[in-house]
Amino acid sequence: MSKEVVIIGAGLGGLLCGRILSRRGFSVTVLEADFFPGGILHGFEWEGTVCERGFHSVGGLAPGEPLEKIFRPLGLMDLPWYKAQPDEGFPFLRLNTRSDFELEHILEPFRKSTWRLEGGGVALSNALAEGLDIRFGKKAVSIEKQVVTCEDGSSFKADAIISDLHPAATMNLVRDHVRPAYTKRLAKLQDGPGIFSVHCLMEPGCVKWQSGAIFLDSSLMIHFGEPGTNILELLCFGEGNPEEMIARASVRLPSLKVLKYHAMMCQGYGVMKHSNADFISAQTPLPWLFLTGQNLGLHGILGTAISALNTCRTIP
Ligand SMILES: Cc1cc2nc3c(=O)[nH]c(=O)nc-3n(C[C@H](O)[C@H](O)[C@H](O)COP(=O)(O)OP(=O)(O)OC[C@H]3O[C@@H](n4cnc5c(N)ncnc54)[C@H](O)[C@@H]3O)c2cc1C
Repeated sequence: MSKEVVIIGAGLGGLLCGRILSRRGFSVTVLEADFFPGGILHGFEWEGTVCERGFHSVGGLAPGEPLEKIFRPLGLMDLPWYKAQPDEGFPFLRLNTRSDFELEHILEPFRKSTWRLEGGGVALSNALAEGLDIRFGKKAVSIEKQVVTCEDGSSFKADAIISDLHPAATMNLVRDHVRPAYTKRLAKLQDGPGIFSVHCLMEPGCVKWQSGAIFLDSSLMIHFGEPGTNILELLCFGEGNPEEMIARASVRLPSLKVLKYHAMMCQGYGVMKHSNADFISAQTPLPWLFLTGQNLGLHGILGTAISALNTCRTIP
C-alpha cells in the first residue's frame, strides 16, 4: 500500500515535492488556500496581459547544471525554455538588502546560464500542477496528530505531512507538543525585504525588446515582459517609488514612454541567510512533519527546488 502524504501549499516547493513523491509511489494530496497553483510563481492579469510576480528567469538549466538535473526527470525540460542574453552589469550585481553569502550562492548559476520560459510563471505553475491531486480553497488552520484541518472544517490524515509555508507559520498551526527551543528559534528567523515591482505599459515599439534583464547600479532591475507585449517591469528590494524608478529606467532607455503603471509589493523572498547556521532542516521535531519551500535553504527557483529534493529525501 502506498504511503499517504499531505502537502500544505501548492507553491513551487509544495508542487515539486508532490511530483517527486508521486513518482516514488506515494499517494499525494496538496492543500492550497488559493484557487490557482504556483503561489508567488503565478502571474496576474493586467491590461489584457499576463504579468509576472515571482518568475522572471532561472539559472542553471544548461545540460549538467543543477536545475536541469532536478527538472529533467520531472519532464519540466520539455517546456519551451530559451536562453536570455545576460546583461553586462549582472556579474557585479549587489543587492545591499541581502547578504553577500546568499548572493554568491544565488547568482552563480545565473552567471553560467540564464533562461526564460515562454508563458512564464503561469506555464511553469501549470506544468508542475499537472496530474497532481490539488484541493484548492483549502486553507490549513491546524496540524495535530498527523491530521491537517482546513478553515472549511475538512480534515486530511496522512503518514507524512509536508508544509510549504514559512517554518514559523507552520509551527503556529501545530497543536502537538514541540520543544519550545525549536519554535523559539523559528520565530526569531529574520525575513528578507519583499520585492517592489512596477509593471509599465509602454507605448508600442518605443524600446527594443531584450531577453535578458538590465541591472542598474545594483539596485534596480529592468525586465521585459513576454515577447510581443508592451510590458516592462521594474523591480527593487524593499519599498520603492514608482515615478523615481521609471525616471531611472528612462536614463538607460531614453526612448521609453510609459502610458500607465501598476505598482505592488510582493512579500516573500525568503528568510535571510547570513551563513550555513541559518539553514533549516526539512525534518521537524515531530517525526511525521516536514518542511519545504524557499525559507529552508536558498530562495529562488533553484534554491526552492534543491530544498524540495532534500525534503523528499528526508521522508522515510
Ligand atoms: C517579485 C519576485 C520575483 C521573483 N523572481 C524570481 C526569478 O526571476 N527567479 C527565481 O529563481 N526566483 C524568483 N523569485 C523567487 C521565487 O519565486 C520563490 O523563491 C519561489 O516561488 C518560492 O516558492 P515557495 O513554494 O517556497 O513559496 P510560495 O510560492 O509562497 O508558496 C506557498 C503556498 O502556500 C499557500 N498557502 C499559504 N498559507 C496556506 C495555508 N494556511 N493553507 C494552505 N495553503 C497555504 C500559498 O497560497 C502558496 O501557494 C521571485 C520572488 C519574488 C517575490
